[in-house]
Amino acid sequence: MSDASSLPVIIVGGGFSGAMLAARLAERGQASVLIERGDAFGTGVAYSTPNDAHRLNVRAGRMGALADRPDGFINWLRAHHPDQADPNGFAPRRLYGLYIRDRLATTEAAYPALIRRVNGVAIAVEKQAAILSTGERIEGRAVVLATGNPAPRTTPAGEGGRLIANPWTPDALTPIRPDDDVLILGAGLTMVDVLLSLSSQGWRGRATAVSRRGLLPRAHGSGHDAPVDLPPQALIGPLSARLFAARRLAEAHGWRRVMEGYRPITLDLWRAATEAERARFLRHLRPRWDVHRHRIAPEIAAELDRMLADGRLTVRAGRVRRVEASAEAATLRLTARDGAAQTLSAPWLIDCTGPGHDAATAPLTAALIAEGRARLAVSGLGLDLDEDGRVRHADGAADPALFVIGPPARAAFWETIAVPDIRQRIEALAARLTA
Ligand SMILES: Cc1cc2nc3c(=O)[nH]c(=O)nc-3n(C[C@H](O)[C@H](O)[C@H](O)COP(=O)(O)OP(=O)(O)OC[C@H]3O[C@@H](n4cnc5c(N)ncnc54)[C@H](O)[C@@H]3O)c2cc1C
Repeated sequence: MSDASSLPVIIVGGGFSGAMLAARLAERGQASVLIERGDAFGTGVAYSTPNDAHRLNVRAGRMGALADRPDGFINWLRAHHPDQADPNGFAPRRLYGLYIRDRLATTEAAYPALIRRVNGVAIAVEKQAAILSTGERIEGRAVVLATGNPAPRTTPAGEGGRLIANPWTPDALTPIRPDDDVLILGAGLTMVDVLLSLSSQGWRGRATAVSRRGLLPRAHGSGHDAPVDLPPQALIGPLSARLFAARRLAEAHGWRRVMEGYRPITLDLWRAATEAERARFLRHLRPRWDVHRHRIAPEIAAELDRMLADGRLTVRAGRVRRVEASAEAATLRLTARDGAAQTLSAPWLIDCTGPGHDAATAPLTAALIAEGRARLAVSGLGLDLDEDGRVRHADGAADPALFVIGPPARAAFWETIAVPDIRQRIEALAARLTA
């Protein structure tokens, strides 16, 4: 039997989180096995788009893969794509994918044999092992779930016909003809991507987007917004009082600077919150938090404004009651914010509700829960994890060798979606796994 410390760390998922964790582990002398079911390692959903209209939603100067070198990406752009090397700009996501692949390949070359890539689907996680769909069993000293952003999930009744259930699959939008109108479920970042993709293919139709609150992502400002120092009233006490204080600050300094003020302490606030406070935040404030925190490039916001002004984009607030899709058309039945029943129909319906996280039904995690090796967080945000990202068993004990990183770790870290947040988690986990 092998000595545990000589075994590799098994990483399930080779997107940004998994690939960059493997790179950091290699730099610390720790071997890993990186399991990815898709064709490319390092890019995941976000950075595999070939469409240069799809831009980063974080300034290039802050997108470095390493926690202590936020300028890593901008330096890479200066060397490889100097025409795109604006630290304040929002580079095409395709270039970011190339940067990540480059960093992975360079690390592999510098630390030979420390990263083993496996192209396959992990279907089960056993104690310190992952099982692939081929039946292969890969043993390691620990398993890290870096399974990322699952496809959007629409109500099962809506599947088929004119419903495009996963707009992230290549060519998903090509059946849409130039003059076809579309209904869009969700009005966030995925909707923005979809509208940009449609425009790139010469689409001239009209889009109606429906979301609970009808909020659109806000735009970044023209440059970096210096964070404001938040007073105690914005940090402690009832949520309503904090919101009031934050609004007062936003009137004085601008909302972007207030959001920047919250950025470095978001994790501390999340950890300090009770389950009841988290539930209230998720129920009442989350949609507003998301649109202010995850902003879009100003030029993309201007494009959306043009579409709104031209009547080519309409955004409605409402709760979707039923989704129907036939071979000819799609229909959404919803209850508007004022309680009125509404029916919308169009030749196409596109599910842009964003990543369909559901740890209770996803095969890997559902099995762990059924065996008592994992449990769901009270917040409903996924698996319950400890402060190191270790999976908690049904009895609350943290598994010493099973970790989650990236967006599926939201229950423990809340903001663990964008690169500047994930790279901090990678650093902490790499340190822990090599301690
Ligand atoms: C469309 C989109 C655009 C974004 N744009 C930005 C941006 O501009 N800036 C920013 O900071 N953040 C952005 N994000 C946030 C994004 O979550 C992170 O930047 C980052 O890509 C997350 O990487 P990940 O590896 O955790 O997840 P993913 O990129 O989703 O990668 C997970 C990988 O795991 C694989 N996988 C899953 N299950 C299995 C299995 N059972 N077996 C084998 N492989 C498996 C998948 O194939 C996938 O490649 C964006 C997200 C999306 C969805």
